[in-house]
Amino acid sequence: MDKAIGFSLPVMAAGLLAGCMPSPMQSTVGSIPTVQAPAQQPAFSPASPVVVQNLWKPDAPARKWRHIVLHHTASSAGSVESVHEAHIDRGWDGIGYHFLIGNGKGMGDGEIQSTFRWREQIHGAHAKSPNNEYNEYGIGICLVGNFEETDPSDAQLASVKRLVSVLKHEYQLTESQVIAHRDVKATACPGKKFPIGEISRSSVFAGQSGTYVTELPAAFQIVTVERSNLR
Ligand SMILES: [Zn+2]
Repeated sequence: MDKAIGFSLPVMAAGLLAGCMPSPMQSTVGSIPTVQAPAQQPAFSPASPVVVQNLWKPDAPARKWRHIVLHHTASSAGSVESVHEAHIDRGWDGIGYHFLIGNGKGMGDGEIQSTFRWREQIHGAHAKSPNNEYNEYGIGICLVGNFEETDPSDAQLASVKRLVSVLKHEYQLTESQVIAHRDVKATACPGKKFPIGEISRSSVFAGQSGTYVTELPAAFQIVTVERSNLR
């Protein structure tokens, strides 16, 4: 049993099901437009079963995903915006990952954000290999932090397990298809303290009704940075 999936409440999911999702607010960080869900959360009854909802399901047709590749930023702080800027400085067309999970410094602790790569279902720029298999068909998930030195926070672990379990379910991926960046190339990423086995085994589980249920993040943002023109 995966205890991290068992204890917190899917408050946002209850809000979605109840039709009381507040409308998004627009905000701007530097020149990058973002859309944030308000902090206020709807009431939730712990007894309510929640049918699996892939909150991250993009409008674009699904790419043929074959892998999920986990990373760390190797920094103590970070956000979608800061990583986006850093990757543009490398000459890329924006943040190379499909998802970023914050650690409370730059983004909320355990907060999951998707990027334009996910919304548009385009290739990543996070796991270079000779045939480019992992950038072409790998969903790149990065956690903010340096896990050579510190452990991911409990909130980050709970969030990455939720995200991985939903993605595995949605795209019929198995445990062996959830890998660490270091499995693709010579790198320490995502760090020796990153519990890749525990995360790759994450799964949604059948609820009383027989439908799949999962815990969903209490805080998340729909959103994020837009693709930049290459320069
Ligand atoms: Zn990496």
